Amino acid sequence: MRKFEDTYRHKGLRKKLIDSIRDKGITNERVLEAMMNIPRHFFLDTALDHIAYEDRAFPIQEGQTISQPYTVAYQTQLLEIEPYDKVLEIGTGSAYQAMVLAEVGANVFTIERQKKLFDLNKEFIFRKKYPGIKFFYGDGFEGLPTFAPFDKILITAAAPFIPPKLIEQLKPNGRMVLPLDNEGVQKMMRITKNHDGSYEEETFSNFSFVPMLKGRN
Ligand code: SAH
Repeated sequence: MRKFEDTYRHKGLRKKLIDSIRDKGITNERVLEAMMNIPRHFFLDTALDHIAYEDRAFPIQEGQTISQPYTVAYQTQLLEIEPYDKVLEIGTGSAYQAMVLAEVGANVFTIERQKKLFDLNKEFIFRKKYPGIKFFYGDGFEGLPTFAPFDKILITAAAPFIPPKLIEQLKPNGRMVLPLDNEGVQKMMRITKNHDGSYEEETFSNFSFVPMLKGRN
């Protein structure tokens, strides 16, 4: 079985990465501290160990990616997580983002549409550190009606439109952060739900994500 070691070298590289993300404009120290506490190299193939702390996305299984650290920090910061917030994440992938959310104090529910990725996560030893995260195999477009409403929703794949069922599953004053696709480029959006069910939209920078796809696989 794979041995997970977090050496001084890893910690040093991680510190440099976090400093560089701060330099790129991330100001929420709780988010940065959470990322300092999570050894990103655990989420990657051992062959990528030496570059795990570069600020870039990497391939994981099934043609998916672990998001770029800056992107993880950016989305988490936009969510403005309060301790105990009930947060739904769409696109578990490597579970790195889910664990960052747990580290900043969220009560995390995460959905993955690919069975293989969902199953791989069950075997991931580091997951034991976050027993509170609830993992689901399903289609994120449907959300989790049984567990709704949520304080925050985070989509970590390129959404072709704002999923109406996810808006429904937000609490009043709740927020959703998503990369909204427009001809291959995604604009980071933040939705804030009003008490009457309507919502406000804010638009942020451009990013590049793998697509959010319908159904399970
Ligand atoms: N949050 C992840 C990023 C993974 S990439 C991480 O930290 O590693 C996006 C993930 O979204 C992929 O694993 C992809 O399979 C998943 N995905 C795409 N469409 C989805 C949908 N409709 N429902 C749930 N997951 C979806």
